Amino acid sequence: MVPRARNTLARNALPIVIAGGGIGGLACALALAQRGFRTIVCEQAFEFGQVGVGLQVAPNALSVLDALGVGDRVKSEGLLIERMVMNDGIDGQTVCDIPCGADFIRRFGNPYAVAHRADVHGALLQGCMALASFIELRTNSRVVGYANDGASVRVQLQDGEILQAAGLVGADGVRSRVRQQLVGDGEPSPAGAVIYRALVPAARMPRECQHPFPTLWVGPRAHAIYYPVRDWSEFNFAITVHAPPDDTWEGETDAQKPRAALDGWSHEVTQLVDIQPRFQRYVIRHRAPIDNWTEGAVTLLGDAAHPMVQYIAQGAAQALEDAICLAEEVDRADGDMPAAFLAYQAVRIVRSARVQISSLMLDRLYHVSGVERLVRNSIFEGRQAADYYDRLAWLFTAPDYVQRALADRTQPDALRRLG
Ligand SMILES: Cc1cc2nc3c(=O)[nH]c(=O)nc-3n(C[C@H](O)[C@H](O)[C@H](O)COP(=O)(O)OP(=O)(O)OC[C@H]3O[C@@H](n4cnc5c(N)ncnc54)[C@H](O)[C@@H]3O)c2cc1C
Repeated sequence: MVPRARNTLARNALPIVIAGGGIGGLACALALAQRGFRTIVCEQAFEFGQVGVGLQVAPNALSVLDALGVGDRVKSEGLLIERMVMNDGIDGQTVCDIPCGADFIRRFGNPYAVAHRADVHGALLQGCMALASFIELRTNSRVVGYANDGASVRVQLQDGEILQAAGLVGADGVRSRVRQQLVGDGEPSPAGAVIYRALVPAARMPRECQHPFPTLWVGPRAHAIYYPVRDWSEFNFAITVHAPPDDTWEGETDAQKPRAALDGWSHEVTQLVDIQPRFQRYVIRHRAPIDNWTEGAVTLLGDAAHPMVQYIAQGAAQALEDAICLAEEVDRADGDMPAAFLAYQAVRIVRSARVQISSLMLDRLYHVSGVERLVRNSIFEGRQAADYYDRLAWLFTAPDYVQRALADRTQPDALRRLG
């Protein structure tokens, strides 16, 4: 066991270890540091980074990023969208059009942004690096197990090192090792769909697809989405296609298979596949909600706790909300991790499960055919912006703990705590 340097300003003698330096893990470290708790973030990769390209950053996610002090950076690097549009892939008609301008921002306290994943992750990483006396960032550090003695925890790394910690937060993603030990529910199940993802340079993007917002196309057994990232220099393009659960091949592929899934669809979207982007194919995996993800001084966060299909574009947002909530409870319990982790779970479990379930329900909404498709389209006819906002309020409104963290940021106390 390697003795670690003590930060005498920190409220915890033993560090809190966070397994995983993704969006959830870094946000958790930052939120805890802002409340005076020191952490060690153990990331298995050789460097901190993100797989994948575009990320939709809903207002509830932006409110967390604001509370963490990095919201302005994400908003300045991302694109604040003017609307969200869903089109019918078969007849090309717009089914649903939600304005995201001034009224939307007034209602939810933030705009809706699209960003490059690396920019959101990079903003959090910068935030963590600026608080180096509270946050130790380690790469090439794979957590392989833990021994929980109730009040503290011994965290084992792959290289044999053991970290004595006040608590362990498993923010190690959809295939979480910490979850494997804590919950033991095996591999996440294939959700019955695969996703083909590509980055298309703006110069190759057909002019009629160059909208300043995400354009979603829905149709039988598939949906497609594209939106600009990084100053419009590139477009994130993804096609999700139903697939049998045993079709688990992943890797780089050409446009042939996704093109076949969109056969007979509107030219606006098929022309984009016809420019032959190189796609990465991934299997979409998920888990059903569970009623416990905490054991003594060990808990889970983000995809490790509540992985979901991406249809609602909220997985990262939910990981961010987890982070704020967990830090508030650790603060409230004054470092009593088992008590704090149980309180955090009690607050978060219903909301995160609702998002998991809602996301899965969109599978039906997006992918219906025949008369069900016509019913789907008729449901949205004539719907006004205010009506959409009312229906989305449960999701996009910052929960109380995020509101409190936002209010706390403006208190001089919060700044003093960090010295
Ligand atoms: C196609 C697709 C599109 C999506 N679009 C959106 C979107 O638009 N908006 C949105 O909000 N969400 C979206 N999501 C969901 C979002 O990507 C995830 O919910 C989010 O990244 C989860 O963050 P996390 O930190 O919990 O996990 P991850 O991002 O998976 O990070 C986990 C980290 O832990 C590390 N790790 C793993 N095991 C170990 C270990 N044993 N020890 C140490 N480190 C370990 C990994 O290397 C990784 O860095 C999408 C997901 C997919 C698949």
